[in-house]
Amino acid sequence: MDFEFTQEEEALRSQVQAFIKDNLTPEVLADLAGGKRGRGFGPRAKGIFEKIADRGWNAIAWPKAYGGQGGSRITQFLVEEEFYRAAQVVIGGGGTGTPAVLASGTEEQKQYYVPRAIRREIIFCQGYSEPQCGTDLAGVRCRATRVGTGADAHYVVNGQKVFTTNAQVATHVFLLVRTDPESRRHAGLSILLVPMDTPGITIRPMYTIQNNPGGPPGTTYGEERTNEVFFDDVKVPVSCLLGQEGDGWAVSQRGLNLDRVGAWRYLISIKRDEDFANWLKSDDPRAADLRDDEAVRDKVAELWIEAQLCRLMTMRSMSIEQRGEGFTYEGAAEKVFAPEHGVRTTEAIAQLLGPHAQLLNGSPGNVQDGLYAHNLLSAFQSTVNHGSVQVMRDQIARKGLDLPKPRK
Ligand SMILES: Cc1cc2nc3c(=O)[nH]c(=O)nc-3n(C[C@H](O)[C@H](O)[C@H](O)COP(=O)(O)OP(=O)(O)OC[C@H]3O[C@@H](n4cnc5c(N)ncnc54)[C@H](O)[C@@H]3O)c2cc1C
Repeated sequence: MDFEFTQEEEALRSQVQAFIKDNLTPEVLADLAGGKRGRGFGPRAKGIFEKIADRGWNAIAWPKAYGGQGGSRITQFLVEEEFYRAAQVVIGGGGTGTPAVLASGTEEQKQYYVPRAIRREIIFCQGYSEPQCGTDLAGVRCRATRVGTGADAHYVVNGQKVFTTNAQVATHVFLLVRTDPESRRHAGLSILLVPMDTPGITIRPMYTIQNNPGGPPGTTYGEERTNEVFFDDVKVPVSCLLGQEGDGWAVSQRGLNLDRVGAWRYLISIKRDEDFANWLKSDDPRAADLRDDEAVRDKVAELWIEAQLCRLMTMRSMSIEQRGEGFTYEGAAEKVFAPEHGVRTTEAIAQLLGPHAQLLNGSPGNVQDGLYAHNLLSAFQSTVNHGSVQVMRDQIARKGLDLPKPRK
């Protein structure tokens, strides 16, 4: 197996690195960090996104027919890697919701949504979880009732979602609803792409532990806010249905799998290894004391080996996506190993730094503006969101090891 990038890909990496050096000024980075924390991207960040789109970098792997470059997923990965490492922003690929539209949308939907998503005129948030069902998504109760006929046919949506991250800045929600009231569990569910400005939608903020004071740029985990979203008699045209009515479980699982893939996925979990290694090389006197300690060097090396494994697992998912094959257990394995590595790293760094590791952004004596303290507070949530590690382990046991379902 050859893990090297081609000469053309390495040349592209150099171009992207030069772009980052020239364009991601401290002011732009601050704008990008604010947007990532759910405050909306400011004009400087938007200007950068336009420049990136003009170069075709956030849609390298998507088909030309919808505004992409028709290139390879691996090349896209390389661009994602550079931008996430520099500014913790997700460029193209997974995490944007758009791969699900490409996988399950009608021709009209692809023509409408994909080019706009590339330009960030359309931003999706994900409306799966409900107060009584997060892991157990098949228990979804949010209802969409089909009424009217012909040109007047539409759904009326009633229900509640929870943990809908970025609902306050999104233009559309990927909404998992029950369209067949008689159905149970996985049957009778559908996905609707609902514009967030539709009358009857109410967004209520839920602030996270990251909120006050907010983490400094470089904090990879956790937005400062997620949301509850309420739907009261929300009228949605049937043209907003993604895939077939009643096929929402398959559409959403396909979408979630594709959304879990991307360089940002592993970098969320390993960026601290890189930050800490760089800090150890700095002229902070605390760093000099630590880097001379054999035990510290051993620990950092051990975490670094794990970090390389996280990257390789992401690259395996990339190649599977590139070959157009579905995941069996590979995405789940990545979703267990990388977040748990992130938790192990934040805990290990906290122990190595001692009391300084507890000091948040703005506190005198902190290390790197409280970067490690903020990551320590919120690393754990990455083992829960996008599918918890316990449930992912169950998928690995069944689909990877072919174990039968446990007897009840
Ligand atoms: C910061 C954050 C952002 C999020 N953003 C979004 C978003 O944008 N959109 C969205 O739809 N959702 C989002 N979520 C929700 C997330 O997907 C759910 O929290 C997650 O699926 C777990 O569901 P739950 O919170 O209901 O916990 P529960 O399902 O109650 O699970 C609690 C614990 O029990 C374990 N557990 C549950 N069932 C089983 C089982 N059968 N076997 C073994 N263990 C089990 C779980 O692994 C977990 O550890 C977000 C969550 C967080 C924390």
